[in-house]
Amino acid sequence: MSSIILEARDIRYRYPRGMEAISGISFHIRKKEKIALVGPNGAGKSTLLTMFNGMIRPDSGILLFDNEPVCYDAASLRILRKRVGFVLQNPDRQIIAPTVFQDVAFGPTNLGYNEAEVQDAVTHALRHTGLEGFERRPPHQLSGGEKKRVAIAGVLAMDPDVLVFDEPTSGLDPSGSEDIMELLDELNHEGKTIIISTHDVELAYPWADRAILMLGGKILQEDIPEIAFGNTESVRQAHLSLPTLLELHSELRKRGYFLGGRKPRTVLDMMQCIETILKKAPLQKPLGTITVCNVDRGTQEQLSGWLAINRVASVGAMGTRAKQRAESQQIRLDFTYGVIDKCILKALLGENSLILTTESMVRRIGERVDAYCKESGICIPVLQFESPENQVQDSPDGGVQ
Ligand code: ADP
Repeated sequence: MSSIILEARDIRYRYPRGMEAISGISFHIRKKEKIALVGPNGAGKSTLLTMFNGMIRPDSGILLFDNEPVCYDAASLRILRKRVGFVLQNPDRQIIAPTVFQDVAFGPTNLGYNEAEVQDAVTHALRHTGLEGFERRPPHQLSGGEKKRVAIAGVLAMDPDVLVFDEPTSGLDPSGSEDIMELLDELNHEGKTIIISTHDVELAYPWADRAILMLGGKILQEDIPEIAFGNTESVRQAHLSLPTLLELHSELRKRGYFLGGRKPRTVLDMMQCIETILKKAPLQKPLGTITVCNVDRGTQEQLSGWLAINRVASVGAMGTRAKQRAESQQIRLDFTYGVIDKCILKALLGENSLILTTESMVRRIGERVDAYCKESGICIPVLQFESPENQVQDSPDGGVQ
């Protein structure tokens, strides 16, 4: 288990001339965890988040970062804010410079990076957030989703260990929200600890490793989402609703159906439950395959060639660069979020799919499919993308394992 990166011991905070916003909270967050603080408006989520990078100092109790108590002198706060990046709910409040480049360069410049280092940090952050080519654009001319990406790039340019997002999808349309949540996943797979606040149960439930339910400045429940959201009393108390999948699971149970031990986190899990209920062989047809194409390696021509000779029912993309590659090659994407599970569902229907992705996510795909295979006993074939020339040589029928 990873070591603890953030810990709170009985912290309290009252705004000047205000009520107590944080009323004795203790918790810990491990490195590389995905944590969702969930609660209604006024629960204290934003206040708690702003403590993580020292913007607010608790009146009492201790906050530890990397096992050291947070210190509030200017030099210590500078170090803390380099390691804990904070993305505000409203990007207009975070973006301050007249061009995207200048805005993203602000943090690294302040940290004393030299010109070449600033250029490097900005290029890397813009690439990561899919904003290459936006360097000279004035931020106020960008869409809500693009502004959010600029704010994230500004934080990423300082290469923090922990990224804190206050309501990361607020103001975004469903597709923009999916893109941002996918970017968060990508950053997490690269080793960052991600903490978000949200009142959106459906967003937090499948995403988080652990959910912290808050109300009135206190923690009501803190656990893996199946347990945290499975406690109907805490959920009701926090003025939240049960995630749809849990509600469906509970309704089926009430009707006496045997559903196995684990509660469903995804549609794929739910399908497994339903297959169990129907007690029929889950597979009517041979399994489809999932081919993984790392866009950091394959060329445009290879990908076009492959698509021309391989019939795939669906194409999904994970990661900003993969989506950009699809757009630049005019590849129609069927899935842009929850891609692995959706491709597994297709494979169960006997359909082949292709996942375009980036270097850092390739392993994640293998791990997710392996986990599914272990649990269900159904082994979905995952193929590595091979350029069409090799395919013809290695396997005339187009399958390269
Ligand atoms: P959430 O993020 O869960 O909506 P907040 O942390 O914003 O909750 O607010 C927690 C409590 O603190 C609320 O009662 C809110 O009214 C109060 N509060 C938030 N900001 C301030 C402020 N600047 N001054 C006084 N009270 C505040």
